[in-house]
Formats: sequence, structure tokens, C-alpha cells
Amino acid sequence: MDYRSKRVTNLPPYLFSVFQKKKKQLEEQGVDVIDLGIGAPDLPTPPFIVQKLLDESVKPENHRYSNYAGSQEFREAVANFYRRKYGVELNPDEEVLTLVGSKEGIAHLISAVINAGDSVLIPDPGYPVYRSAVSLADGESIYFPLDHQNEYRPNFKSLSQTEIRKAKMIILNYPSNPTAATVNLATFQEAISFAKQHNLALVHDAAYGLVTFGEYEAPSILQVPEAKDIAVEFGSLSKSFNMTGWRIGYIVGSKHLIQSLSLMKSNIDTSQFLPIQKAAAVALQSDLQSVKHNNDIYNNRLSTMLNALKQIGIHVKRPKGTFFIWAPVPIGYTSNEFAEEMLKKAGVIITPGTAFGPSGEGYFRISLSVHTDRLEEAAKRIRQFKGGES
Ligand SMILES: *Cc1c(COP(=O)(O)O)cnc(C)c1O
Repeated sequence: MDYRSKRVTNLPPYLFSVFQKKKKQLEEQGVDVIDLGIGAPDLPTPPFIVQKLLDESVKPENHRYSNYAGSQEFREAVANFYRRKYGVELNPDEEVLTLVGSKEGIAHLISAVINAGDSVLIPDPGYPVYRSAVSLADGESIYFPLDHQNEYRPNFKSLSQTEIRKAKMIILNYPSNPTAATVNLATFQEAISFAKQHNLALVHDAAYGLVTFGEYEAPSILQVPEAKDIAVEFGSLSKSFNMTGWRIGYIVGSKHLIQSLSLMKSNIDTSQFLPIQKAAAVALQSDLQSVKHNNDIYNNRLSTMLNALKQIGIHVKRPKGTFFIWAPVPIGYTSNEFAEEMLKKAGVIITPGTAFGPSGEGYFRISLSVHTDRLEEAAKRIRQFKGGES
């Protein structure tokens, strides 16, 4: 008996598990493998957030169901955060919804908005969940290629009229996983105009919105006037407050899109554990010094790794956000070959660019979310990598 539905059978393959298997094999042979493939922070959740969870978790009134839409307290904290950080006004009752992590929200929103056969424009390379979620909704993914020449900004002119006409939704993600590309508000203005002109719902995934370096601050797409008519933005505490396991995020923007997602979700989950929502509210309303502290750590690791790459002839423009480096593979390798070679010769796991879509060919992604000592060891091995070749 095959218990896999067509939807599950048709899911695109998940490339990360292949390298995890190889990692296990090598470790069993006694090889010290350094995993730079991980897409989650290694740093701990700031203590003031953990403390709030501890305090709230012993109160019996917090052991009940949350509202479907999430607690008023958390939704107000998100609205306050948007006012303070971006100067954007949000109605916490209609324009904010609590999510059990943004991944859940992205996947459910797609199912809530598109019909079987509808198309969604998704970034290539991009976060693999977009494509899987479109597939689960029986939709069709149309990749829009992002390339180095255009600094990984969307080039709307590259899309054909047929593709645009078929599409119901477009997804953007800045600062970007995997390319680490960042944009300014002008790119969002252009995207909103494009989406309005073609009746597309615009979904912006801002999972790395607070993970930025130096003077650069990532804009919110809702800072574009009238963006709320057609756009939503996803936010997550996972990457900025090191809370991946807590499963807490939010969606803000168009009340029509949010209403549709909310209706779907009310039949699937009943929001997140109240103490987690309360702790997350405290995080968003903090002075964000803990975020700055983490970003400084990533920024230092970035210098270490960029230097190591330079020494093997790989030059990368310093990214302004995320904890990723997106770099070209040396001449003569495919993405996969280079990743395999790195694992075999240096014991370092990197992610081949093709894991994020066909336009990722010729590139690889390094994650900076491993302990600084281990990252330095990885950098050392990478510097020696070329020597091993000749
Ligand atoms: C990690 C990640 C997410 C999901 O984060 P959650 O933990 O589900 O909130 C969403 N988008 C991108 C691009 C990510 O890298």
C-alpha cells in the first residue's frame, strides 16, 4: 500500500538530505566534518526572552488556547515594532496575524490564495519552500531568474507576457536566502507597481529583515505607499533573535490576503503557545541591542570567511545582510562537484547553489552560523584546499 498522495509524491526533492547522509558516513569513518550548510543561527536566544517564557509558562491562564489569530498582545507588539522601525501603521486586528513560524505561514498562504493550475512567480535561486508550497497547492511555479549582473534584484522585463498573465502571485525575499542580496526601497517601489499593473498578490519574505551590517538597514515593503492594497510581508523571530525552535513569526499587510490565510489556519492550528507569544512580544519591543550584538558576530565571521575565499581565488562582494555568503565555484566545477570536493578534501559541507533552483548552478552557499572557532578551522581548511589540488 502506498500511502503517499499525489501531492506528497510530486514534492520536489529536498537536496539537503543527500549531504547530511554523506556527512554521517564520513563522521562514522572518524572524519571531523564542519557543516557550513546549516541555515539556522548557532547563537542562543537572548536571556531576557528566555526569562519571559519561564515567568509566563507557570501561569495557568497561559495554558489555554490562544485566539486563532494570535494574542492581542503579540499582534500589538508587531504593530508597534512596524511603527517604530519602519514608520508603518498597522491595525493589529486586521493587518497582523501570528504564525507558528513564517514557513508555515508562507505554505498556508499559497494554498489559501491560489487555485489548482494557477501560477506563482518565485525567485531563482530562492528558498526551496516557495516551490514546494506551490506544488502542494497544485499550482505551477514560474521561476524568475536572479543574477549577479543585476545584483540579484528582480528583472521584471525578463518575464514573458504569457508568464505574467498566468501568474496570480509573486514572491520576493530580501535580504535574500541564499544570495545574501539586499535592496533599497526603490526596488520595492518598482515591484509594487509591477504587481499592481498585473493584478498580482505580492508576498515579501523578510525573514532576515533585522540581520544587517554596518549602516545598512533593510526596508519593509510596506513602506511603499499603498503597498497594503496588494502586498503582505512575512517576519520571523527565528533568525534575528535565534528562536528557530520556538516557532513564532507573523504576517502583516493586506487585510484581504491575511483574512484568507486566517480562515485557512483556523481550521488547521490554534496559533502558538501563549508564553511563546508573550516572550516574542518582549523581543520585538526591546531596544534590539541583542540583534546588533549577534550581527556584529556574523560580520566578524564574514571577514574571516571572505578572506579565506579570496586566498583560493574566490572573490565575493561583501554582503550587507543575512548570515550567508553566495559565491561562484572555481572554474571547471559544477556546484555539485565543488560541494563534493569540499566535503571530500576539506571535510567542509557547503550547499550547492542548485539546491535553490536552476539559476544557482555555478554557485555555492556558505552559512556563517557555526561557532567562530569552527568557522576559523573551516577557513583554514578552505585556504589549504587549493594546495590539495595542485
Ligand atoms: C528560515 C527562513 C524562513 C522560515 O523561518 P521560520 O523559522 O519558519 O520563521 C523563511 N524564509 C526564509 C528565506 C528563511 O531562510
